Amino acid sequence: MTTSPSWRNPDPRSPYHLLIVGAGPAGLMAAQVAVRRGARVALIDRNLLGGPCLNKGSVLSKTIIRTSRLYREMRDAEHFGAQVPAGIAVDFPAVMDRVRRIRARLSSRDSAERLAAMGIDVYLGEARFSGPGSVTVGGHVLRFKKALVATGARPMSPPIAGLEETGYLTYESVFDLTERPSRLLVIGGGPIGCELAQAFARLGSRVTLVQDEPMFLGHEERDAAQLLSDALARDGIEIHLDTQTTRVRVAGNDRLADLVNDGMKRTVAVDRILVVVGTAPNVQGLGLDAAGIVCDPVGGIRVDDFLRTSNRRIFAAGDVCAENRFPHIESVAARIVVTNALFLGRQRLSAEAIPWCTFTDPEIAHVGMYVTEARQKGIPVKTFTVLMHEVDRAVTDGEEDGFVKLYVREGTGKILGATVVASHAGDLINEISLAMSAGLDLCALAKVNQPYPTQSQAIKRAARAYVGSRPRSVRTWLTRQWLSL
Ligand SMILES: Cc1cc2nc3c(=O)[nH]c(=O)nc-3n(C[C@H](O)[C@H](O)[C@H](O)COP(=O)(O)OP(=O)(O)OC[C@H]3O[C@@H](n4cnc5c(N)ncnc54)[C@H](O)[C@@H]3O)c2cc1C
Repeated sequence: MTTSPSWRNPDPRSPYHLLIVGAGPAGLMAAQVAVRRGARVALIDRNLLGGPCLNKGSVLSKTIIRTSRLYREMRDAEHFGAQVPAGIAVDFPAVMDRVRRIRARLSSRDSAERLAAMGIDVYLGEARFSGPGSVTVGGHVLRFKKALVATGARPMSPPIAGLEETGYLTYESVFDLTERPSRLLVIGGGPIGCELAQAFARLGSRVTLVQDEPMFLGHEERDAAQLLSDALARDGIEIHLDTQTTRVRVAGNDRLADLVNDGMKRTVAVDRILVVVGTAPNVQGLGLDAAGIVCDPVGGIRVDDFLRTSNRRIFAAGDVCAENRFPHIESVAARIVVTNALFLGRQRLSAEAIPWCTFTDPEIAHVGMYVTEARQKGIPVKTFTVLMHEVDRAVTDGEEDGFVKLYVREGTGKILGATVVASHAGDLINEISLAMSAGLDLCALAKVNQPYPTQSQAIKRAARAYVGSRPRSVRTWLTRQWLSL
């Protein structure tokens, strides 16, 4: 955030059509959509505008991932017929300097001054509901017709003996490092843990990655998680799956961690410990009781499919929610909340095709249903798969790991979902999301004209496999008769 230190909160123009607590991606986007549609909007944040996404999360991790990918490519140069000098050194302070420069550049978009110029009343300070239709901030009482709670979440710390005394990094502090840890223990094999473990390994840290479940990325499909596991191992990461970290402590210059798998204990010595085991919702001190909002302090605020809380005038979106917690949901949430709150809309979150991606190498992206989910709902599923090594552009680019899998309702071309594992899966998934949002089926995807060669041909080929699998139509029969005349 580039807001000047002399920022003065405006005089309230209550009642606000929409009052938003939390200026992370969800809150910022909703404020901008609502003000564009003519609403009087108040936006409150106690900290940096942009939230952790900009200041501590997505943007910073993607920046460091880019540099780490470059180092990996330099080390792999020979595979591409190129030569680089031996012994490439990583200038870690320079890497982190780039991270800070990019954060500063992007954050200027979300300055309080810029938002105020758009017509949004920006308040900096701790917000607290004082009743079902009012919030206090910095000595002001702001009244609202509708409100949105988008206060996000904070890193969760697991009950590991000795953790507090030993000291550890979270995603809130890891990007402040100025010195690269030579040996890094990452506890947590979810998206953030895997992304950062791989990035640090490629930047030269000796990384040990511990996950308490049998696979990484618990929510993803087994073959996708396995490909990721293989890729992390190739990057030299020491992987411990199905393993508990039971105790950590300091011994001289080392931090020691006891790892227990199947009753067997092993102790590893590292320099720093990074804990990324999930998040806890930011609900404390918000006065949710006064507003009549039902909340589980561990899970978060309960919302329905319309993103309404138990107080029908108050909505919630993003990481603070117990359900419907999609990482990059901000634009969808903003549209749904603004339409439902201010314009009597009935937009449902479940009607949206919302893709997500883990930005490891290869990336793992998904949209719609998983096969298991479809089966649980009694929907018969057929899967069409194309492996990336069958796609010319993936071969030319040396990016052959992965696959595109399209799931359809058996006997139809209706797309239920898709998983893409590929170097650019986060981009590839968009074509499938577009098709799902527009109600297009696999026949439509099979007909898309694409430049050759591109990696998205994997999608077209999977769609064409579906077309080829359909029973021959009367038209095909007639064509054959015609040709045989
Ligand atoms: C390392 C990392 C990498 C990530 N990578 C990705 C990615 O690649 N793609 C992706 O989609 N997601 C990613 N995420 C997740 C993404 O950052 C979050 O899902 C997103 O920030 C959630 O947005 P939000 O608006 O719900 O909340 P937040 O961004 O958490 O914002 C909440 C805001 O509310 C404010 N606030 C809280 N309480 C109060 C109060 N009482 N009064 C006033 N203000 C308050 C906070 O100061 C904060 O600014 C990543 C996260 C991390 C940590």
